[in-house]
Amino acid sequence: MGYDIETKCIHLEENDHPEERFGAISFPIYQTATFAHKGVGQSTGYDYTRLQNPTREHLEKVVASLEQGIDAIAFSSGMAAIGAVMELFSPGDHLIMERDLYGGSTRLFSHISKKNGISITSIDCSRENVADYITDRTKAVYIETPTNPMMNVTDIAALSKITKEKGLLLIVDNTFLSPYLQNPLVLGADIVVHSGTKYLGGHNDTISGFIVTNREDISEKLRFIFKTTGAGLAPFDSWLILRGIQTLALRMEKSQENAALLADWLLKQKRVTRVIYPGLSSHPGHEIMKKQSRGFGAMLTFDVDNEAFALSLLKNVRLIRFAESLGGTETLLTYPLTQTHADVPKEELAKCGITEHTLRLSLGIENGQDLVKELERVFELGEKEVYG
Ligand SMILES: *Cc1c(COP(=O)(O)O)cnc(C)c1O
Repeated sequence: MGYDIETKCIHLEENDHPEERFGAISFPIYQTATFAHKGVGQSTGYDYTRLQNPTREHLEKVVASLEQGIDAIAFSSGMAAIGAVMELFSPGDHLIMERDLYGGSTRLFSHISKKNGISITSIDCSRENVADYITDRTKAVYIETPTNPMMNVTDIAALSKITKEKGLLLIVDNTFLSPYLQNPLVLGADIVVHSGTKYLGGHNDTISGFIVTNREDISEKLRFIFKTTGAGLAPFDSWLILRGIQTLALRMEKSQENAALLADWLLKQKRVTRVIYPGLSSHPGHEIMKKQSRGFGAMLTFDVDNEAFALSLLKNVRLIRFAESLGGTETLLTYPLTQTHADVPKEELAKCGITEHTLRLSLGIENGQDLVKELERVFELGEKEVYG
Protein backbone atom coordinates (compact mmCIF):
# COMPACT_ATOMS: atom_id res chain seq x y z
CA MET A 1 0.00 0.00 0.00
CA GLY A 2 2.69 2.38 -1.01
CA TYR A 3 1.20 4.97 -3.36
CA ASP A 4 0.25 8.48 -2.40
CA ILE A 5 -3.37 9.44 -3.11
CA GLU A 6 -2.25 11.58 -6.11
CA THR A 7 -0.96 8.41 -7.75
CA LYS A 8 -3.91 6.33 -6.57
CA CYS A 9 -6.23 8.63 -8.54
CA ILE A 10 -4.53 7.32 -11.67
CA HIS A 11 -3.18 3.83 -10.88
CA LEU A 12 -4.49 0.90 -8.88
CA GLU A 13 -1.91 -0.57 -6.54
CA GLU A 14 -2.83 -4.09 -7.54
CA ASN A 15 -1.90 -5.20 -11.06
CA ASP A 16 -5.03 -4.76 -13.16
CA HIS A 17 -3.61 -6.83 -16.04
CA PRO A 18 -3.70 -4.43 -19.02
CA GLU A 19 -2.39 -7.26 -21.24
CA GLU A 20 -5.86 -8.83 -20.95
CA ARG A 21 -7.33 -5.81 -22.73
CA PHE A 22 -4.71 -5.47 -25.51
CA GLY A 23 -2.61 -3.17 -23.30
CA ALA A 24 -5.22 -0.38 -23.46
CA ILE A 25 -4.12 2.41 -21.11
CA SER A 26 -7.62 3.83 -20.79
CA PHE A 27 -9.81 1.22 -19.13
CA PRO A 28 -12.26 -0.14 -21.77
CA ILE A 29 -15.99 0.48 -21.57
CA TYR A 30 -17.60 -2.97 -21.41
CA GLN A 31 -20.90 -1.91 -22.91
CA THR A 32 -22.73 -5.21 -22.49
CA ALA A 33 -25.78 -6.32 -20.57
CA THR A 34 -24.76 -9.94 -20.21
CA PHE A 35 -21.74 -12.30 -20.46
CA ALA A 36 -21.38 -15.68 -22.17
CA HIS A 37 -20.37 -18.81 -20.26
CA LYS A 38 -18.27 -21.72 -21.54
CA GLY A 39 -20.41 -24.21 -19.67
CA VAL A 40 -22.40 -24.71 -16.51
CA GLY A 41 -20.52 -23.42 -13.51
CA GLN A 42 -17.89 -21.77 -15.75
CA SER A 43 -18.55 -18.06 -15.26
CA THR A 44 -15.83 -15.57 -16.23
CA GLY A 45 -16.68 -13.84 -12.97
CA TYR A 46 -19.15 -11.66 -14.84
CA ASP A 47 -22.71 -12.81 -15.43
CA TYR A 48 -24.96 -9.81 -15.88
CA THR A 49 -24.19 -6.09 -15.71
CA ARG A 50 -26.64 -5.36 -12.89
CA LEU A 51 -24.48 -7.66 -10.75
CA GLN A 52 -20.97 -7.05 -12.11
CA ASN A 53 -19.41 -5.16 -14.97
CA PRO A 54 -15.63 -4.85 -15.53
CA THR A 55 -15.65 -1.07 -16.11
CA ARG A 56 -17.76 -0.42 -13.03
CA GLU A 57 -15.67 -2.87 -11.02
CA HIS A 58 -12.47 -1.07 -11.98
CA LEU A 59 -13.99 2.23 -10.84
CA GLU A 60 -15.13 0.62 -7.59
CA LYS A 61 -11.60 -0.58 -6.89
CA VAL A 62 -10.22 2.91 -7.50
CA VAL A 63 -12.76 4.53 -5.16
CA ALA A 64 -12.21 1.86 -2.47
CA SER A 65 -8.48 2.53 -2.72
CA LEU A 66 -8.94 6.33 -2.41
CA GLU A 67 -11.16 5.94 0.68
CA GLN A 68 -9.01 3.13 2.11
CA GLY A 69 -12.02 0.81 2.26
CA ILE A 70 -12.28 -2.87 1.40
CA ASP A 71 -15.23 -2.38 -0.94
CA ALA A 72 -16.86 0.43 -2.90
CA ILE A 73 -20.13 0.09 -4.80
CA ALA A 74 -20.95 2.42 -7.69
CA PHE A 75 -24.56 3.59 -7.99
CA SER A 76 -26.44 5.57 -10.63
CA SER A 77 -26.65 8.57 -8.26
CA GLY A 78 -25.71 9.72 -4.80
CA MET A 79 -29.34 9.38 -3.73
CA ALA A 80 -29.47 5.79 -5.04
CA ALA A 81 -26.42 5.04 -2.87
CA ILE A 82 -27.94 6.67 0.22
CA GLY A 83 -31.27 4.92 -0.47
CA ALA A 84 -29.41 1.59 -0.54
CA VAL A 85 -27.70 2.37 2.79
CA MET A 86 -31.13 2.95 4.32
CA GLU A 87 -32.14 -0.59 3.26
CA LEU A 88 -29.81 -1.82 6.00
CA PHE A 89 -32.45 -0.73 8.53
CA SER A 90 -35.83 -2.20 9.50
CA PRO A 91 -39.11 -0.83 10.85
CA GLY A 92 -38.66 0.17 14.48
CA ASP A 93 -35.01 1.18 14.06
CA HIS A 94 -33.96 4.64 15.17
CA LEU A 95 -31.27 6.79 13.54
CA ILE A 96 -29.59 10.00 14.61
CA MET A 97 -28.97 12.44 11.78
CA GLU A 98 -27.09 15.63 11.35
CA ARG A 99 -29.70 18.39 10.93
CA ASP A 100 -27.89 20.42 8.27
CA LEU A 101 -27.76 17.79 5.53
CA TYR A 102 -27.97 17.87 1.77
CA GLY A 103 -31.67 18.65 1.08
CA GLY A 104 -32.20 15.47 -0.96
CA SER A 105 -30.99 13.34 1.95
CA THR A 106 -33.33 15.14 4.33
CA ARG A 107 -36.20 14.49 1.90
CA LEU A 108 -35.32 10.78 1.70
CA PHE A 109 -35.15 10.40 5.48
CA SER A 110 -38.22 12.44 6.34
CA HIS A 111 -40.50 11.01 3.66
CA ILE A 112 -39.32 7.56 2.53
CA SER A 113 -37.42 6.27 5.58
CA LYS A 114 -40.09 7.48 8.02
CA LYS A 115 -42.81 5.84 5.92
CA ASN A 116 -40.79 2.63 6.17
CA GLY A 117 -40.99 2.78 9.95
CA ILE A 118 -37.56 4.18 10.69
CA SER A 119 -37.60 6.96 13.26
CA ILE A 120 -35.13 9.77 13.00
CA THR A 121 -33.84 12.42 15.37
CA SER A 122 -32.15 15.37 13.68
CA ILE A 123 -29.62 17.24 15.77
CA ASP A 124 -26.61 19.49 15.32
CA CYS A 125 -23.93 16.81 15.61
CA SER A 126 -21.17 19.43 15.60
CA ARG A 127 -22.44 21.01 18.84
CA GLU A 128 -24.80 18.64 20.66
CA ASN A 129 -23.81 15.51 22.53
CA VAL A 130 -24.90 12.63 20.29
CA ALA A 131 -24.82 10.17 23.23
CA ASP A 132 -27.77 12.01 24.83
CA TYR A 133 -30.02 10.95 21.94
CA ILE A 134 -29.15 7.26 21.76
CA THR A 135 -31.98 4.88 22.70
CA ASP A 136 -32.04 1.07 22.76
CA ARG A 137 -33.46 1.19 19.22
CA THR A 138 -30.74 3.43 17.78
CA LYS A 139 -28.80 1.70 15.01
CA ALA A 140 -26.75 4.42 13.34
CA VAL A 141 -25.55 8.00 13.24
CA TYR A 142 -25.51 9.74 9.86
CA ILE A 143 -23.48 12.90 9.31
CA GLU A 144 -21.87 15.20 6.80
CA THR A 145 -18.78 17.17 7.75
CA PRO A 146 -18.45 19.94 6.79
CA THR A 147 -22.22 20.23 6.39
CA ASN A 148 -24.19 21.55 3.47
CA PRO A 149 -24.41 24.51 3.32
CA MET A 150 -23.51 25.76 6.81
CA MET A 151 -20.06 24.09 6.99
CA ASN A 152 -20.50 22.80 10.53
CA VAL A 153 -17.65 20.47 11.39
CA THR A 154 -18.01 17.29 13.44
CA ASP A 155 -15.05 15.51 14.98
CA ILE A 156 -15.35 12.12 13.26
CA ALA A 157 -12.87 10.27 15.51
CA ALA A 158 -14.56 11.53 18.69
CA LEU A 159 -18.01 10.59 17.39
CA SER A 160 -16.79 7.15 16.31
CA LYS A 161 -15.70 6.44 19.89
CA ILE A 162 -19.34 6.88 20.96
CA THR A 163 -20.80 4.86 18.07
CA LYS A 164 -18.30 2.02 18.53
CA GLU A 165 -18.96 1.84 22.27
CA LYS A 166 -22.72 1.63 21.64
CA GLY A 167 -22.43 -0.73 18.66
CA LEU A 168 -23.92 1.78 16.20
CA LEU A 169 -22.93 2.34 12.60
CA LEU A 170 -21.29 5.66 11.81
CA ILE A 171 -22.18 6.77 8.28
CA VAL A 172 -20.42 9.80 6.78
CA ASP A 173 -21.38 11.57 3.56
CA ASN A 174 -17.92 12.66 2.37
CA THR A 175 -19.06 14.40 -0.83
CA PHE A 176 -17.96 17.90 0.20
CA LEU A 177 -14.29 17.09 0.72
CA SER A 178 -13.80 14.03 -1.49
CA PRO A 179 -11.38 11.26 -0.51
CA TYR A 180 -8.53 13.52 -1.56
CA LEU A 181 -9.06 15.72 1.50
CA GLN A 182 -10.69 13.43 4.08
CA ASN A 183 -10.97 9.68 4.76
CA PRO A 184 -13.72 9.04 7.35
CA LEU A 185 -13.12 5.25 7.41
CA VAL A 186 -9.60 5.88 8.68
CA LEU A 187 -11.07 8.14 11.38
CA GLY A 188 -13.46 5.41 12.59
CA ALA A 189 -16.53 5.60 10.34
CA ASP A 190 -18.09 2.31 9.14
CA ILE A 191 -19.67 3.54 5.91
CA VAL A 192 -18.80 6.45 3.61
CA VAL A 193 -21.21 7.69 0.97
CA HIS A 194 -20.48 9.99 -1.94
CA SER A 195 -22.34 11.81 -4.60
CA GLY A 196 -19.83 10.98 -7.33
CA THR A 197 -21.62 13.61 -9.39
CA LYS A 198 -19.57 16.20 -7.52
CA TYR A 199 -15.77 16.12 -7.02
CA LEU A 200 -15.15 12.52 -8.09
CA GLY A 201 -16.70 13.05 -11.53
CA GLY A 202 -15.71 16.69 -11.36
CA HIS A 203 -17.05 17.96 -14.68
CA ASN A 204 -20.78 18.45 -14.11
CA ASP A 205 -21.50 15.90 -16.82
CA THR A 206 -22.52 12.66 -15.06
CA ILE A 207 -24.61 11.60 -12.07
CA SER A 208 -23.22 8.86 -9.83
CA GLY A 209 -22.95 7.72 -6.23
CA PHE A 210 -20.82 5.46 -4.04
CA ILE A 211 -20.93 3.51 -0.83
CA VAL A 212 -17.57 2.54 0.65
CA THR A 213 -16.96 0.40 3.72
CA ASN A 214 -14.10 -1.30 5.50
CA ARG A 215 -16.28 -4.01 7.06
CA GLU A 216 -16.82 -7.41 5.42
CA ASP A 217 -20.25 -7.91 7.04
CA ILE A 218 -21.54 -4.56 5.77
CA SER A 219 -20.06 -5.05 2.33
CA GLU A 220 -21.85 -8.39 2.04
CA LYS A 221 -25.22 -6.90 3.03
CA LEU A 222 -24.80 -3.92 0.73
CA ARG A 223 -23.79 -6.07 -2.24
CA PHE A 224 -26.99 -8.06 -1.73
CA ILE A 225 -29.10 -4.88 -1.59
CA PHE A 226 -27.23 -3.53 -4.64
CA LYS A 227 -27.84 -6.53 -6.89
CA THR A 228 -31.43 -6.81 -5.71
CA THR A 229 -32.51 -3.19 -6.07
CA GLY A 230 -30.44 -2.65 -9.22
CA ALA A 231 -29.29 0.97 -9.32
CA GLY A 232 -25.77 0.19 -10.56
CA LEU A 233 -23.78 2.78 -12.48
CA ALA A 234 -23.78 2.20 -16.25
CA PRO A 235 -20.49 1.24 -17.98
CA PHE A 236 -20.07 4.49 -19.89
CA ASP A 237 -20.83 6.61 -16.83
CA SER A 238 -18.36 4.49 -14.85
CA TRP A 239 -15.71 5.36 -17.42
CA LEU A 240 -16.52 9.08 -17.19
CA ILE A 241 -16.10 9.01 -13.42
CA LEU A 242 -12.82 7.08 -13.77
CA ARG A 243 -11.61 9.76 -16.13
CA GLY A 244 -12.74 12.50 -13.74
CA ILE A 245 -10.91 10.92 -10.81
CA GLN A 246 -7.59 11.05 -12.69
CA THR A 247 -7.47 14.83 -12.10
CA LEU A 248 -9.10 14.82 -8.64
CA ALA A 249 -5.91 15.91 -6.85
CA LEU A 250 -5.20 18.80 -9.23
CA ARG A 251 -8.80 19.97 -9.25
CA MET A 252 -9.17 19.86 -5.48
CA GLU A 253 -5.97 21.86 -4.97
CA LYS A 254 -6.96 24.54 -7.46
CA SER A 255 -10.60 24.87 -6.36
CA GLN A 256 -9.49 25.07 -2.76
CA GLU A 257 -7.00 27.82 -3.60
CA ASN A 258 -9.85 29.73 -5.29
CA ALA A 259 -12.10 29.21 -2.26
CA ALA A 260 -9.50 30.70 0.09
CA LEU A 261 -9.02 33.67 -2.27
CA LEU A 262 -12.74 34.40 -2.55
CA ALA A 263 -13.35 33.91 1.18
CA ASP A 264 -10.77 36.64 1.82
CA TRP A 265 -12.32 38.89 -0.79
CA LEU A 266 -15.85 38.40 0.56
CA LEU A 267 -14.70 39.17 4.11
CA LYS A 268 -13.71 42.65 2.95
CA GLN A 269 -17.08 43.50 1.38
CA LYS A 270 -19.38 45.89 3.26
CA ARG A 271 -22.51 44.18 1.94
CA VAL A 272 -21.39 40.72 3.08
CA THR A 273 -22.61 40.09 6.62
CA ARG A 274 -21.16 36.61 7.14
CA VAL A 275 -18.61 34.34 5.42
CA ILE A 276 -18.59 30.67 6.37
CA TYR A 277 -15.47 28.86 5.19
CA PRO A 278 -13.70 26.32 7.42
CA GLY A 279 -10.34 27.55 6.11
CA LEU A 280 -10.82 30.82 8.01
CA SER A 281 -9.18 30.61 11.44
CA SER A 282 -12.32 32.24 12.91
CA HIS A 283 -14.45 29.24 11.80
CA PRO A 284 -15.45 27.10 14.82
CA GLY A 285 -14.50 23.88 13.01
CA HIS A 286 -11.10 25.13 11.80
CA GLU A 287 -8.97 23.30 14.37
CA ILE A 288 -10.88 20.00 14.05
CA MET A 289 -10.49 20.13 10.28
CA LYS A 290 -6.77 20.75 10.59
CA LYS A 291 -6.65 17.50 12.53
CA GLN A 292 -8.97 15.29 10.48
CA SER A 293 -8.70 16.62 6.91
CA ARG A 294 -5.91 17.45 4.52
CA GLY A 295 -7.55 20.72 3.53
CA PHE A 296 -10.65 22.86 3.93
CA GLY A 297 -12.37 22.17 0.63
CA ALA A 298 -13.75 24.50 -1.99
CA MET A 299 -17.26 25.23 -0.76
CA LEU A 300 -18.16 28.45 0.95
CA THR A 301 -21.37 30.05 2.14
CA PHE A 302 -22.02 33.73 2.67
CA ASP A 303 -24.81 36.10 3.61
CA VAL A 304 -25.46 39.47 2.02
CA ASP A 305 -27.32 42.34 3.67
CA ASN A 306 -30.69 41.85 1.97
CA GLU A 307 -32.77 39.50 -0.14
CA ALA A 308 -33.06 41.78 -3.18
CA PHE A 309 -29.26 41.99 -3.42
CA ALA A 310 -28.96 38.20 -3.13
CA LEU A 311 -31.46 37.74 -5.97
CA SER A 312 -29.67 40.32 -8.15
CA LEU A 313 -26.35 38.56 -7.64
CA LEU A 314 -27.94 35.34 -8.87
CA LYS A 315 -29.33 37.14 -11.90
CA ASN A 316 -26.23 39.14 -12.80
CA VAL A 317 -23.51 36.50 -12.67
CA ARG A 318 -22.27 35.25 -16.03
CA LEU A 319 -18.81 33.66 -15.74
CA ILE A 320 -20.03 32.17 -12.48
CA ARG A 321 -23.20 30.19 -13.15
CA PHE A 322 -26.37 30.23 -11.08
CA ALA A 323 -27.00 26.49 -10.74
CA GLU A 324 -27.30 23.78 -8.16
CA SER A 325 -24.65 21.14 -7.68
CA LEU A 326 -21.00 21.54 -6.82
CA GLY A 327 -17.59 20.02 -7.19
CA GLY A 328 -17.12 20.59 -10.91
CA THR A 329 -14.57 22.58 -12.90
CA GLU A 330 -17.06 25.46 -13.24
CA THR A 331 -17.72 27.84 -10.35
CA LEU A 332 -21.40 27.68 -9.38
CA LEU A 333 -23.48 29.99 -7.23
CA THR A 334 -26.42 28.34 -5.49
CA TYR A 335 -29.44 29.65 -3.58
CA PRO A 336 -30.04 26.92 -0.97
CA LEU A 337 -33.50 28.23 -0.06
CA THR A 338 -35.10 27.48 -3.44
CA GLN A 339 -32.61 24.96 -4.85
CA THR A 340 -30.79 22.33 -2.80
CA HIS A 341 -33.01 22.81 0.25
CA ALA A 342 -36.34 23.67 -1.40
CA ASP A 343 -38.11 20.73 0.28
CA VAL A 344 -36.84 21.40 3.77
CA PRO A 345 -39.38 23.33 5.93
CA LYS A 346 -38.42 26.98 6.53
CA GLU A 347 -38.35 26.51 10.31
CA GLU A 348 -35.80 23.72 9.91
CA LEU A 349 -33.75 25.93 7.61
CA ALA A 350 -33.91 28.80 10.09
CA LYS A 351 -32.57 26.48 12.79
CA CYS A 352 -29.57 25.86 10.54
CA GLY A 353 -29.17 29.56 9.75
CA ILE A 354 -30.24 29.36 6.09
CA THR A 355 -32.23 32.44 5.06
CA GLU A 356 -33.20 34.55 2.02
CA HIS A 357 -29.79 36.22 2.32
CA THR A 358 -27.75 33.01 2.13
CA LEU A 359 -25.74 32.08 -0.96
CA ARG A 360 -23.40 29.16 -1.56
CA LEU A 361 -20.39 29.08 -3.85
CA SER A 362 -18.75 25.96 -5.25
CA LEU A 363 -15.38 27.09 -6.53
CA GLY A 364 -14.18 25.68 -9.80
CA ILE A 365 -10.73 25.75 -11.34
CA GLU A 366 -10.90 29.01 -13.30
CA ASN A 367 -8.29 31.71 -12.80
CA GLY A 368 -8.90 33.13 -9.31
CA GLN A 369 -8.51 36.78 -10.37
CA ASP A 370 -11.15 36.32 -13.08
CA LEU A 371 -13.53 35.07 -10.39
CA VAL A 372 -12.71 38.08 -8.19
CA LYS A 373 -13.35 40.43 -11.15
CA GLU A 374 -16.69 38.73 -11.79
CA LEU A 375 -17.76 39.26 -8.18
CA GLU A 376 -16.48 42.86 -8.20
CA ARG A 377 -18.65 43.49 -11.26
CA VAL A 378 -21.85 42.03 -9.79
CA PHE A 379 -21.28 43.65 -6.39
CA GLU A 380 -20.88 47.03 -8.10
CA LEU A 381 -24.20 46.55 -9.89
CA GLY A 382 -25.90 46.06 -6.52
CA GLU A 383 -29.64 45.61 -6.90
CA LYS A 384 -29.54 46.80 -10.53
CA GLU A 385 -30.24 43.86 -12.80
CA VAL A 386 -28.51 44.01 -16.16
CA TYR A 387 -29.90 40.91 -17.81
CA GLY A 388 -33.62 40.47 -18.46
C1 LIG B 1 -25.47 16.04 -4.43
C2 LIG B 1 -25.37 15.45 -3.10
C3 LIG B 1 -26.01 14.24 -2.78
C4 LIG B 1 -26.92 13.53 -3.77
O1 LIG B 1 -26.21 13.04 -4.86
P1 LIG B 1 -26.83 12.90 -6.36
O2 LIG B 1 -25.67 12.40 -7.13
O3 LIG B 1 -27.30 14.26 -6.76
O4 LIG B 1 -27.95 11.93 -6.27
C5 LIG B 1 -25.82 13.71 -1.53
N1 LIG B 1 -25.04 14.33 -0.61
C6 LIG B 1 -24.41 15.50 -0.87
C7 LIG B 1 -23.58 16.14 0.18
C8 LIG B 1 -24.56 16.09 -2.11
O5 LIG B 1 -23.94 17.26 -2.37
